Amino acid sequence: MIEFSYSRADDADDAIRRAADGHGRYLGGGTNLVDLMRETVETPSALVDVTGLSREIAPTAEGGLLIGAAARNTAVAEHEAVRSGYPLLARAIVAGASAQIRNMATVGGNLLQRTRCTYFYDTDGSRCNKRAPGAGCDAIEGFNRMHAILGASPACVATHPSDMCVALAALDAVVHLRSASSQRTVDLCDLHRLPEDRPDIETVLEPGELITAVQLPPPNPAERSTYRKVRDRASYAFALVSVAAALEFDGDAIVGARLALGGVAPKPWRARRAEEALRGHQATEANFLEAANAELADARPLAGNAFKVELARRTMVAVLGQLTKEARS
Ligand SMILES: Cc1cc2nc3c(=O)[nH]c(=O)nc-3n(C[C@H](O)[C@H](O)[C@H](O)COP(=O)(O)OP(=O)(O)OC[C@H]3O[C@@H](n4cnc5c(N)ncnc54)[C@H](O)[C@@H]3O)c2cc1C
Ligand code: SF4
Repeated sequence: MIEFSYSRADDADDAIRRAADGHGRYLGGGTNLVDLMRETVETPSALVDVTGLSREIAPTAEGGLLIGAAARNTAVAEHEAVRSGYPLLARAIVAGASAQIRNMATVGGNLLQRTRCTYFYDTDGSRCNKRAPGAGCDAIEGFNRMHAILGASPACVATHPSDMCVALAALDAVVHLRSASSQRTVDLCDLHRLPEDRPDIETVLEPGELITAVQLPPPNPAERSTYRKVRDRASYAFALVSVAAALEFDGDAIVGARLALGGVAPKPWRARRAEEALRGHQATEANFLEAANAELADARPLAGNAFKVELARRTMVAVLGQLTKEARS
């Protein structure tokens, strides 16, 4: 039996104070953290429940949206301003988990959910550098069908599991952070780290730092956007590959492109090379293929996941084709 305390924070300052007391962790909906505790992957001495903090979804002065970190995933996906201004975010959230889990899961917890690599959860016999730095990685020579093809390292090949984060990466979202001594913002694309030789350090958060909100820039009404997730089952399955995409057209030319990939990398993967290859070019299948190839040029598949390279290529081309068709109709 591993003992821990539970308390509920009244506000952000109270949460930070309580978490600083010992080896504390913030508790959102608990849909990931409680599983990790059950498997003894995580053993916090104190849980600080932050579900009572801001869950407000409110317009910003610039015309964007500020989403409180305690907002439930369902509330975000169903909010009128999200559905109308950021439909790819609503789609991405609904593509994740199940209705029951989305009702519990919070925005803060979704951002910091940890990989679903099975060796990471297997504390009984598997070697895992993320769980025990320096121990080795059983996924590299093992069952690695779900693992990364981009951005991995010899220390860790796990993928980031979130759908919501992929949409937020494409949307240029900004994360609001607070600690005992400061407040700061970090671009969503810079929140998660690549594993390099320290896969146990997954984000740029300082110990005890609290996520208070996620900010979205004003929506671009000229953009067509969507989120497509390819997975083994229609529900309860993490992405093999997912694509969040937003395109702006001038006639047949692409004048704006924002793309992010999920299921292929240790972090939500902003596809900047593909974006660059698309901007200023005609919306043709040949150009979509060239953009996908540019993004995947550095792909390093493992024995079990070479299919992901082709799947990612085809999914990108299909999504770009779909947005072009919608824009022309
Ligand atoms: C069966 C199953 C299927 C799933 N399928 C999918 C899927 O297909 N796609 C997908 O994207 N997700 C999926 N998920 C994962 C799910 O989306 C996450 O478990 C959920 O988003 C986590 O949110 P939470 O509030 O429950 O986080 P918690 O479990 O409470 O916390 C997760 C982490 O975030 C930290 N945290 C929480 N709030 C804050 C805060 N405000 N500031 C700082 N740190 C904080 C916690 O300390 C913890 O480390 C699935 C989960 C399950 C169980
Ligand atoms: S891929 Fe990463 S999380 Fe999975 S076993 Fe290897 S080190 Fe651990």
